[in-house]
Amino acid sequence: MTRSYNSFDIAQAQFDGVAELLNLDPSARDLLRYPMREFTFAITARMDDGRIRIFRGFRVQHNDAKGPCKGGIRFHPLETLDTVRALAMWMTWKCAVVDIPLGGSKGGVVCDPHNLSAREQETVCRGYVRCMGRNMGPHLDVPAPDVMTSAQHMLWMLDEFEAIHGSKQPGFITGKPVGVGGSQGRAEATGFGLVFTLREALKELNIRPGDTTASVQGFGNVAQNAIRLYSQIGGRTVCVSCWDQTDQASYSFRRKDGIDLDELLGITDRFGGIDKRKVRDLGYEILPGEAWLEQDVDILIPAALENQITEDNVSRIGKRVRIIAEGANGPTTPAADSALEHRGIFVIPDLLANAGGVTCSYFEQVQSNTNYYWDKDEVLSKLDIKMTAAFIAVSELARKRKLFTRTAAYVIAVDRVARACRDRGWI
Ligand code: NAD
Repeated sequence: MTRSYNSFDIAQAQFDGVAELLNLDPSARDLLRYPMREFTFAITARMDDGRIRIFRGFRVQHNDAKGPCKGGIRFHPLETLDTVRALAMWMTWKCAVVDIPLGGSKGGVVCDPHNLSAREQETVCRGYVRCMGRNMGPHLDVPAPDVMTSAQHMLWMLDEFEAIHGSKQPGFITGKPVGVGGSQGRAEATGFGLVFTLREALKELNIRPGDTTASVQGFGNVAQNAIRLYSQIGGRTVCVSCWDQTDQASYSFRRKDGIDLDELLGITDRFGGIDKRKVRDLGYEILPGEAWLEQDVDILIPAALENQITEDNVSRIGKRVRIIAEGANGPTTPAADSALEHRGIFVIPDLLANAGGVTCSYFEQVQSNTNYYWDKDEVLSKLDIKMTAAFIAVSELARKRKLFTRTAAYVIAVDRVARACRDRGWI
């Protein structure tokens, strides 16, 4: 039986635990358990066949005590307000754990871009900005790409925002194409950021990257870039998984001597779906969707969706696994988390491991607002510095107070946000 999880319940439960540890007063708990603002709206769009369709849109701004809100916009057929609330709250903690001066938000549209033409997707993007434009902006709330949204979607949204406001405002949105206000390194940032933290975790555990193997859930932006940098530091990825749109099912693809990233990219669509018909000819075994977590590897990288490591499958995690680096947001349920802690698996929690994306988005905001752009090496070396410093702060606190790494990351993040709220006189 597949359980269903409410991500917002999980996010609140995680917060409650940390609030206890920090001994937060009731006003801080009341403020931080819920979003400060949330919007639901109807986007009307004319389809290619001439009919009008209504798409449900969400934007949730969890907390902006530390600076303008920041958070992606997802296109997903099963998007819910509660998922967006959870993701917005996680954005607040994520910005705080890497110590960038931003708050947390998230957006979503209930739609499946697989079934929309490019023109229809553009209409949805422009409609989103027409609905939300007054409540977003470079100094208010800055969107970015997320699941099933791309640089092209961001550019359509920027274009609509600038048309409404009658001025160029490239700092309105991040994840733009390079050359139109985008930052070098943004495409790589989340996956690379994850590997910067993974490299530090391996160092701490005294393991040589070249002696390790990994298995990855997902084969989209985060997974592909993580796999690339992980292989550059010497690691070998032996299994990846993805969603198959035709079969409406997920599969894992394994090659024990290591996957060839570029070869797989040649048979992967823009949604991170690997062509199942062609993959077998390249020497990969086709396994069930969940097989990625049962592999005999040192490192697991969940980089697809939330609630993927659960109390139902956590016992099937390969015996050799030492590190889980969470690329996705909220991939592990709290019950599964306890089991991982009990097993002594070193978890690099989502709010830290995948914070490279928002950190680079912050760099993009800085560059767009000043209209001066850095080269890729500068972006990635600044990213490495931020991610490494955040990792060290979390692992030192975890060691000092004997906390699970996720708890240590939350303690640092919630404490920073609560202080900002207190300093502003909000609580
Ligand atoms: P993406 O859309 O580029 O790729 C998603 C991948 O997951 C695809 O390969 C898809 O086939 C796969 N997938 C979907 N359902 C699956 C399933 N049931 N089993 C196995 N694979 C499945 O998305 P992305 O940008 O790589 O984001 C992945 C995760 O990382 C999401 O949780 C997202 O919120 C998070 N994240 C992304 C960024 C970013 O900068 N892109 C930043 C932080 C966090």
